[in-house]
Amino acid sequence: MTDLTRLQQADKAHFIHPFTDSKSLGEKGTRVIERAEGVYIWDVQGKKLLDGMAGLWCVNVGYGRQSIVDAVSKQMQQLPYYNSFFQCTHPPAIELAKTIAELAPKHMNTVFFTGSGSESNDTNLRMVRRYWDLKGQPNKKTIISRHNAYHGSTVAGASLGGMSGMHEQGDLPIPKIVHIAQPYWYQEGGDLTPEAFGLQAAQALETEILALGEDNVAAFIAEPFQGAGGVIIPPSTYWPEIKRILAKYDILLILDEVISGFGRTGHWFAAEYFDLQPDLISIAKGMTSGYVPMGGVIIADRVADVIKQQCGEFTHGYTYSGHPVAAAAALENINIIKQEKLVEKVGAEIAPYFQQALQQLAEHPLVGEVRGLGLVGAIELVQNKAKRQRYPSNIGVGTWCRDACIAHGLVMRSVGDTMIISPPLVITKAQIDELIEKALLALNDTYTQCLALK
Ligand code: PMP
Repeated sequence: MTDLTRLQQADKAHFIHPFTDSKSLGEKGTRVIERAEGVYIWDVQGKKLLDGMAGLWCVNVGYGRQSIVDAVSKQMQQLPYYNSFFQCTHPPAIELAKTIAELAPKHMNTVFFTGSGSESNDTNLRMVRRYWDLKGQPNKKTIISRHNAYHGSTVAGASLGGMSGMHEQGDLPIPKIVHIAQPYWYQEGGDLTPEAFGLQAAQALETEILALGEDNVAAFIAEPFQGAGGVIIPPSTYWPEIKRILAKYDILLILDEVISGFGRTGHWFAAEYFDLQPDLISIAKGMTSGYVPMGGVIIADRVADVIKQQCGEFTHGYTYSGHPVAAAAALENINIIKQEKLVEKVGAEIAPYFQQALQQLAEHPLVGEVRGLGLVGAIELVQNKAKRQRYPSNIGVGTWCRDACIAHGLVMRSVGDTMIISPPLVITKAQIDELIEKALLALNDTYTQCLALK
């Protein structure tokens, strides 16, 4: 029995994978990834793939960073674990909180640590409700989110998210979470211009606040651009209008930067890119570049002061909040980003090159739209460009394209028939050229398959 067969059999027998149809995976067999370096991963059979998704949007500094390995190893030897409950703390968590406060928007100077993006959003839900209790407005409980948002997989995370497939499993959302329209012009914009549609999508927030009563609304939660939903970038009119509405009704803004944080937009946080002043920012992923799990919430002074001064005990926390080994990994990861000026490089050089290169694909007969910002991008696969009309969803054109990418040595993810890309921040221009070349070959193969349908 080959090693691959043995691993696949054991995987099938003992391992339920996240967001996976176990039955069909068992029939197909898993791809077993064994090692990685820079922007490349290798499977157990030695096949090399350019990782166009940075793992799961997280390996910002690329694979194989010895200095993170060393920092983690040193911390494990010195203090592998201690908590930050019961009047205790430890140097890595303190240093990390201070470092993140320095990088965050000026009005945000405090961090609550979690183990993941989902836990960050659970924390947000509890913190905003507690905040309004302490402000003497205990009815301000409802959180407004958006359809097709992704905010995690815990009960609160999946409820805050707007994925109908997730809501169907487990009787979600939980009470006092509602969802409004998403700013997805390509799919839902109809005959409106992107600008008019962006305004309309934002005004759905005001309509919902008025329907619920402003005294009942605690917060609006949103990703700056939707990631898992399909790299959906709001039209330019969207965020300014959302800002106006939130200010008018004194509603908190929870900005979920689990994907966008730590450099992906060419800024440390997308709050800067979109000129937003959030009250809470969810972080994870790029915080440690995925080397060790960690997440957190960055808290604006307005909220932090109330929680610190008036809350008494904030009855919330995780065993691994501020885990010393994860904090050591995060500190070294941030150090690399600073030393190598990755944020500046992405902003000034790599992201513009990437976006321009990506636009070459817009000419392809299968491609309806190419969009992106910073180091994320999306490619819409369509049957009719002019009508923005997709192939019937049961065909699975996006899955064809994803498989064709793999065949050509590229990891690109499909969300329905939208192909999405989010490479490590360390990707070079030559590697971007390689990515586009491989994507083009995959699009050609997919198009050939599509033509055979007719
Ligand atoms: N928020 C956003 C915007 C995400 O993209 C994700 C993960 N893809 C999460 C939250 C959840 O993070 P985690 O998987 O670490 O719980």
